[in-house]
Amino acid sequence: MLCPYCKQEMIKGNLIGTNGYFVYWLPKEYYSKHAFLPITKKKVKDEGGVIIHTNYLTAAPDYFYVCRNCKKMISDIN
Ligand SMILES: [Zn+2]
Repeated sequence: MLCPYCKQEMIKGNLIGTNGYFVYWLPKEYYSKHAFLPITKKKVKDEGGVIIHTNYLTAAPDYFYVCRNCKKMISDIN
């Protein structure tokens, strides 16, 4: 995959969570409304978050593409 910013080849890899359960993305405004991070997948989705990786033990890992030149990461989300 070519980087949409600089057009150089991106490097394919995986994102790995430290607790082995799941990794997620949250919109920035979440932090201004809540004191604690969501701990369930349902709560992440209810707050507009995106589950990035859900089942590393049984499913093939999702791929992420990194551009080292632009310091960008791109992947498909569900
Ligand atoms: Zn780039």
